[in-house]
Amino acid sequence: AIPLVVAVSTALSASNGLLIRNRTSFEKARNIDAIIFDKTGTLTQGEFGVTQVIALDDLNPEEILKYAASLESHSEHPIARGVAAELTDHLPVENFSSIPGKGVEGVILGNEVKIVSSGYLNELGFRLDNTQVDELLSRGKTTVFVIINGQLKGVIALADIIRPESKETVSRFKKMGVKCLMITGDKQEVAEWVSTELGLDQYFAEVLPEEKAKKVKEIQKEGYTVAMTGDGINDAPALAQADVGIAIGAGTDVAVETADIVLVRSNPLDALYIIQLARSTYRKMV
Ligand code: ADP
Ligand code: MG
Repeated sequence: AIPLVVAVSTALSASNGLLIRNRTSFEKARNIDAIIFDKTGTLTQGEFGVTQVIALDDLNPEEILKYAASLESHSEHPIARGVAAELTDHLPVENFSSIPGKGVEGVILGNEVKIVSSGYLNELGFRLDNTQVDELLSRGKTTVFVIINGQLKGVIALADIIRPESKETVSRFKKMGVKCLMITGDKQEVAEWVSTELGLDQYFAEVLPEEKAKKVKEIQKEGYTVAMTGDGINDAPALAQADVGIAIGAGTDVAVETADIVLVRSNPLDALYIIQLARSTYRKMV
């Protein structure tokens, strides 16, 4: 039988947009002393807009954007949605494929087009020393790189918006004695900028999708009981590894299905409420 206070709390949370999918995890949630947030889509809105296109070679910004938007129209990544939205008429793309945590590639009008992260750009052997790009990064802009037929043609800078509730969420968690961490596949500089804005205790940047769960395990090995929030397919293994996996409702089906708790309103403050609710629920029972 389910104790009455737990049943009441479960019903109460559901009416407030918090779906508890796994009751054992809800019970564990009262012991959480570290929370790891995924950056994009959780602490930020995950809705990127293009702010700048820098041409590095013979193509002009409009041409770069035409190839980029066409390629990205085949990807569901938040960055891709932002780039694709720049154009209504997309060129046909053949052999599209995505490189998880690194970028996308495909063939457009016989040209091989890649849009990649700076980490993957380095892996491909490119070295870019551009003060304009450094400056964008230092202001928290996400940048991706456009390669056509093996040549680096341009840089696209995008801005995401930090959710208005994120700062309060972090400060209140810290007051409760919960360590606040962030994990992201995005660049070091962008992560540092967001971390400073929000007053996070620690962050991990340029983490590949398959390494996210490993980071959660590391924090658990330090002795922490860990909650993890995320929205992407990439976050699912980390959500499963965490003691309490929390999916943002607006996220992908995979994340939602893996999570113990779902925040229907996509508001990070709801992660705080669920932990508080777990603490008060199980305090009443002893
Ligand atoms: P996040 O932590 O933001 O969920 P991801 O693991 O999804 O990060 O992606 C990491 C990085 O890989 C992005 O910051 C970006 O540089 C690059 N990337 C991933 N998907 C795409 C895409 N569709 N277009 C361009 N770049 C991408
Ligand atoms: Mg994500």
